[in-house]
This record gives sequence, C-alpha cells and structure tokens, in this order.
Amino acid sequence: MASILEPQESIFRSKLPDIYIPNHLPLHTYCFENIAQFSTRPCIINGPTGNTYTYEEVELIARKVASGLNKIGIQQGQVIMLLLPNSPEFVFAFLGASYRGAIITTANPFYTASEIAKQAKASDTRLIITLASYVDKLKELAQDEEVKIMCIDSPPEGCLHFSELSQSDETELPEVKIRPDDIVALPYSSGTTGLPKGVMLTHKGLVTSVAQQVDGENPNLYFHQDDVLLCVLPLFHIYSLNSVLLCGLRAGAAILIMPKFEIKQLMELVEKYKVTIAPFVPPIVLAIAKSPDVEKYDLSSIRILMSGAAPMGKELEDTMRRKLPIAKLGQGYGMTEAGPVLSMCLAFAKEPLDIKSGSCGTVVRNAEMKIIDIENGTSLPRNESGEICIRGDQIMKANTIDRDGWLHTGDVGFIDDDDELFIVDRLKELIKYKGFQVAPAELEALLINHPNISDAAVVPMKDDAAGEVPVAFVVRSNGSQISEEEIKQYISKQVVFYKRINKVFFSETIPKGPSGKILRKELRQILAAGVPS
Ligand code: AMP
Repeated sequence: MASILEPQESIFRSKLPDIYIPNHLPLHTYCFENIAQFSTRPCIINGPTGNTYTYEEVELIARKVASGLNKIGIQQGQVIMLLLPNSPEFVFAFLGASYRGAIITTANPFYTASEIAKQAKASDTRLIITLASYVDKLKELAQDEEVKIMCIDSPPEGCLHFSELSQSDETELPEVKIRPDDIVALPYSSGTTGLPKGVMLTHKGLVTSVAQQVDGENPNLYFHQDDVLLCVLPLFHIYSLNSVLLCGLRAGAAILIMPKFEIKQLMELVEKYKVTIAPFVPPIVLAIAKSPDVEKYDLSSIRILMSGAAPMGKELEDTMRRKLPIAKLGQGYGMTEAGPVLSMCLAFAKEPLDIKSGSCGTVVRNAEMKIIDIENGTSLPRNESGEICIRGDQIMKANTIDRDGWLHTGDVGFIDDDDELFIVDRLKELIKYKGFQVAPAELEALLINHPNISDAAVVPMKDDAAGEVPVAFVVRSNGSQISEEEIKQYISKQVVFYKRINKVFFSETIPKGPSGKILRKELRQILAAGVPS
C-alpha cells in the first residue's frame, strides 16, 4: 500500500469490470464445472487419427488416471514429468494429475538427455510419461529407484504402460483435499535472469488466469461451445496449456490436437474440422502468410487468430489481416511466471479486437498493471516506456514478487491513450527463438566448462525466421585455437536444437560491471551496430 506521503501510482486495469472468480476450486473441478451443458460434445479430437473423446469421456479418463496414479504410488504433491508431444494422453495425464493432487512438470520432448535429467532432478520427478522412442534419453534417470518411466505407446522392458492409469477403476481414488495454494503445474522458465527454474503455478493461479480469459459476461468473441480450437502449439509450453487447453475445456469447445506443426496438414485440418480459433506464434503466422497454398484451402471458418509468446511485427500483422480478412487477429502477451497471460486483444469491452497493429491488447480483468521507470522504479504515466509489472491472483507463487505483490516482467513497454499495451524491448537476459526460451546463463555455463574457453557471454541476435537466435562472445583460454565450428558442435551435442549457438564472436574480454555481471547491453549494442568480424 502506498502511504499518503508517496506520490500516486498510475495503475492500469481492464476496461471490463472485474468478475467473480471461483478460485477456491481445484483446477479440474473448475474446468469441468459446466460440463452438464456439453457432456456429449467433442472435447478432444486427435487431428491425425480423427479419434474423438467427448467431455464426459475425458472427465472419466482423467479420474481413472488419478486413481491409477494413486495405485502406482504417486502421492499428493509429488511431481510427474510429461515428456510428450501434443496427444490426448497429455491431456488425460495433466487432468488426472490435477485430480490426484499431484504436480505436472512439462519438458520439451526434443530435450537432450542432460537437459531432461537436470529438470527431472531439480523438480524431484517421480514419474516420467513419454514415448518409447525417448526412453533411451532417460537411461541415467531410470537407474534411480524413485523414478518410474511410463510410455503411451509400446513400452520397452522395465517401463510401465499408460493403460495402467487410464484403465484403472476410478472409484478406487481416495478423497483428495486440494487447497487453492497447492501447486498443480511446474513449467520451467529462466524468468528475468539465470538458469531455468520451476515456476510454481497453483490451482488458484491457473483458475484465475483461465477465468480472466474466458469467463464472465463477454462480448461473444471469447471461446464458446461451438468453437473448434486448434491445438498445434506445444502443450509443454504454458501458452498452449493454459490459453488453449484449459480455456478450451472451461468453455466447452472442441480441442483439435496436432502433434507437430506441418503447414499443409494444418490447413487441411482447419478446412476439415472448420476450426474457429487458431492460437499461433509469430513464426507460424509467418509460415501461413508466406505459404502459396493458403488460397487452396478454405480457412474462412477461423474467426479468431491469436498470436503470442514473442513479438509480432506490424507488417506481418497487416499481411495476415489481408490474407484472412474474416478472422479477427490479435496479440496476447504472456510470461510463464505471470500465469501466463498479462494482456490480450480480446479484453475489450466495446469494439472487441478493434485495436492497433502491434498492440498486445489491454490488461486482463481482475488484475493491475503498472509501468515503472527502469532507473528509479517510480510508476510512469501513459505513453512513457518502462518495465511492465503485473499484480493479481494469477501470478506464480514465489518470493521474487516485490513486497507490494508486483511481478516485474523484465519487459519494456508503454500503455497508450486507449489503454493498449505495446512492448518495445526486453531488459531481461531471455532469448526467444520462435517463442521458445533460451536462457543465456545455461549456454554460458556450458561454454565456460570447456577447457579451451576462459570466458563467454550469450546474447540474442535478430533473425528474420526465428525472431532471435543465440550468439556467443567467447574469450579463448591462453594459447587455445578453438574454432567457431568446434564450439558450435560442442554446444549442439548438449542442447535442444533451438538453443544451438548461431554465431561465435571471439573477443579479448567480456564487458562486466563492478559486481561481475555481464554487461549484455553493450554486447547487444555491438551487434546492433553491425555484426563484428
Ligand atoms: P514465456 O515465459 O516463455 O512465455 O516467455 C515470456 C516472454 O516472452 C515475455 O516476458 C516477453 O519477453 C515475450 N513475449 C511474450 N508474448 C509477447 C508478445 N506478444 N510480444 C512481445 N514479446 C512477448
């Protein structure tokens, strides 16, 4: 609370009134609260196979999974890792874990063995649900007696099969008492600095976030029962998990699952299932905008095309609007730690989506946003750029929130006269490759570990296709002749494809501040001035 002696803060709120949010409910109860209205409607459609599960089927399988988890020894509060592409089983496992009172940590199935092991150990994972083809990467973890491995397809020897969960007797689940502050999801994110860390998202936080997006008296732009929602973005990222899956379930929409992005298949499925809502990231929007096949398919069923996770330029937005004139196109702004949605284009009371290109919409309901001066932390008025801060029940459970409850995003932006948010820069270290996170600290730790490298810094470089790519400034050890190629290969072996170093610049020193902190801004300025030789 500001004292009367302190200057008034400029706090921005949604143009829509606050709503009642039943965030005392466990996440699964909240998602299925209105199921009676749509129990026999399609809930999950497996795009490539066409297999469809109704709402009542999904709800039942989720309860069976919860009972099965209990049977195989997964206790309330224990962590389960989903190492899976988008699939119905991903959904069943997530919801089943919620019913069990367990916690889901999600990981990219393309991660290397060491990346998976780091996350599994840090999160104290007890069960990994995956595909047989990834089991090889889990050899080290499999030696730990505390860790069980389960496959959703034919399991190799020593692994469990998903049917142990999905075919359990749901009536055998003992009563589970879930508190609103219990953690339900533990996605990994590097936040504003350092290595990736588990982000503690609670039942209350996720219920609040979903409600902020799809509940209440809404202009009819929000998701509803007649919608077919395309789920092509990976469910292991909170954008898809929350704003596609959970929002879709709450609204009673049909969720059309694609295990991977393939542009032709995507357009075929949009046409076949008459997709109405297409949540994307800028590289997918770019691929569609550039595809010569767009005209061959009937994509006119799309009424909302959303983009988030990374900036989408005004030009791309305008091109896409011309290609799909019927669809309303708008950006949302999310951050894993914020639950994740901070602002969205659907959050307008009147004239929904009638917003400016490049805008990330307005702050969600039941939340507060402020923009603070980067130097002195004071709150700034409209049209002045500073660090974006958010406050509300949706944000993660952590002590890094400031004493007044504000989460500092590390993003720089301003709010204009129409309450629209524009993101203009990023203060934090994070690099975003096609919306995927790359934490410089993780790559720097690997680089410095190499005997021929004495110091290193990793920063983002602009890239047309990916948005940003990681590049490294490297100081060789005395006498070392290590080459750019050797460094790139050394890193490639240890990380998932999007964390690969795109370019290496050899340098004499790494600029650092008095406390030893890398002066990344200086390195970014060197890159902005033209790629060094
Ligand atoms: P993640 O936690 O992986 O969702 O990454 C969050 C970060 O992605 C934010 O803090 C922003 O830096 C960036 N981001 C997300 N959405 C947008 C957007 N619409 N425009 C610009 N940057 C975005």
